[in-house]
Amino acid sequence: MSDCIFCKIIKKEIPAKIVYEDDKVVAFEDVNPQAPVHILIVPIKHIPTILDITQDDNALIGHIFMVANNIAKNKGISGSGFRTVFNCNKDAGQAVYHIHLHILGGRRMAWPPG
Ligand code: AMP
Repeated sequence: MSDCIFCKIIKKEIPAKIVYEDDKVVAFEDVNPQAPVHILIVPIKHIPTILDITQDDNALIGHIFMVANNIAKNKGISGSGFRTVFNCNKDAGQAVYHIHLHILGGRRMAWPPG
């Protein structure tokens, strides 16, 4: 989508600190990190919210979690622990309407989340 900031990052129209990419996803550092490690994994396919995921996307969603697994190991947060988050719609604070999995780690997390 032309006005989507994450589509622009995927197309390299605006800069981001990309840590991983393949033919299905791009992962980059969050510009406003909430933890020492804060990475977003974004599918190349523009899907506005997780409510828009269909059966056709099953493999893609599984792939996102495999990439999260590898990034957590590569960033050294797999043993200490980390959080993965998909925010959905207003009450969850979704700000960018192109689904993205947050990977947060490198500090102790509180529960319940704020
Ligand atoms: P959410 O609230 O789940 O939609 O999260 C959106 C996230 O995208 C926030 O953590 C923002 O800091 C992050 N973000 C917004 N614009 C950019 C950008 N240009 N590069 C990297 N991260 C961004």
